[in-house]
Amino acid sequence: MTGKSRGVVLIIEKTPRRRWDKRDEYTSVCERCELKAYRRPDPYSRRWFTEWTREADGFYAHNYNGGKTPPCDPIAVEVRDEEV
Ligand SMILES: [Zn+2]
Repeated sequence: MTGKSRGVVLIIEKTPRRRWDKRDEYTSVCERCELKAYRRPDPYSRRWFTEWTREADGFYAHNYNGGKTPPCDPIAVEVRDEEV
């Protein structure tokens, strides 16, 4: 650290750890951002895929086509150093 203490520093942790709260065999909810993950059987073949939804912002994603798990909300910590 340089010791400078003016301005705003925005620290973003890009890959926060999820905290999955397992609700049942197929459903988990991230305690951090309330993203819900549903494991669902593919109706057309013998495999499973996952749907992710979040009511707060209407987020929807799935990995039916092999997509990645969406990232958890980044944690943004604003550190404001004000003059004393
Ligand atoms: Zn999350």
